Amino acid sequence: MIPLIYLDHHATTPVDPAVVAAMLPFLTERFGNPSSRHALGQDAHAAVEEARARVASLIGALPEDIVFTSGATESDNLAIKGAARALAGSGRRIVTTAIEHPAVLEPCRTLEREGFTIHRVPVGTDGIVEVGEIEAALEPGTTLVSVMAANNEIGTLQPLAEIGALCRSRGIAFHSDAVQALGRVALDVDAASLDLASLSAHKMYGPKGVGALYVRRARRPRLKLQPQAEGGGQEKGIRSGTLNVPGIVGFGEAARLAHAALDDGEPARLRALRDALLGGLTGSLAGITVNGSLEFRLPGNLHVSIDGVEAETLLLSLGDRFALSAGAACAEAGGKGSHVLRALGMTDSRVYSSVRFGLGRYNARLDVDAVVDALISAVNAARERSAPVRP
Ligand SMILES: *Cc1c(COP(=O)(O)O)cnc(C)c1O
Repeated sequence: MIPLIYLDHHATTPVDPAVVAAMLPFLTERFGNPSSRHALGQDAHAAVEEARARVASLIGALPEDIVFTSGATESDNLAIKGAARALAGSGRRIVTTAIEHPAVLEPCRTLEREGFTIHRVPVGTDGIVEVGEIEAALEPGTTLVSVMAANNEIGTLQPLAEIGALCRSRGIAFHSDAVQALGRVALDVDAASLDLASLSAHKMYGPKGVGALYVRRARRPRLKLQPQAEGGGQEKGIRSGTLNVPGIVGFGEAARLAHAALDDGEPARLRALRDALLGGLTGSLAGITVNGSLEFRLPGNLHVSIDGVEAETLLLSLGDRFALSAGAACAEAGGKGSHVLRALGMTDSRVYSSVRFGLGRYNARLDVDAVVDALISAVNAARERSAPVRP
């Protein structure tokens, strides 16, 4: 493997060595099925419950309100289809935003084909949804509001507490795709009045293929999700299937580490690195624009457009030394460029000249200095190539 400087923590994160160590026994001698009555099964059961308590503690939830899944894509599907269909007797209207992850957008599209009305609230050029716009969209028959906590491209943080309070006062279920916020900023299900929240382990130094859905069970009126996977009745019948014990144990350990890192000033450390990155770029290059609010943003996120430079080409020239993403995420949106950047009203040239940086736990100042230097050379070279030839 080539030693890359990894700056793509919104796509995934490396698994923390402590997480690997916690998981290993559950792939070898502690292999029991947590549903089995014998000692091996009960050992696995106890480990799953400890992990459940740790994940719950990270978001201020009760352990019994955590449902383990195969990842946030499943959690989003379960939350949105499960809640919308269960509540269809009271209405068939869902309010969400224009900048959600495809794991929210696609289930909404499916519901639309089933006759539900989906209202997609726009965002401003700062990438933040206005609470007033949400309020205006809450017409009679609205049963569910889904707003992501932090955006996976531009890192903007949404006003969850205000939106949650609004939903609570109207008796409307409130869901958030909280994947990018989890472990990166403080997130509390009570402070945000959340009824449902989607979580994933692999964006916070845990393994891939495991996630959770927070489901507030004490909610009045009670929210009884329609299960998407039916079978043996695991996870209180909300999500059947033998539990991924090693993955869940890893998720629990990752949650414990994230909690400690949040308390230990990791967000401030990342924000300082991010500010050094931005300062390094703007100090030496003209034509750098930050996309979305810098203030209300994940500490480790930077998303910029670089005038006159094609991001894909730029990243190709850096790709064997730095793991970075072009901000437009073309593949995901079928070649049309990011729906998120479009929602900010960005022009084509700004969309295709944008780069996303995602800083994380193992990044240090040296990594930032290295990518700044490399980008300055690459951008200057690209601009020289495309500069008009003087007569
Ligand atoms: C990564 C991501 C998902 C999907 O999570 P998986 O666990 O990979 O299925 C959903 N929403 C957001 C905002 C994400 O960043």
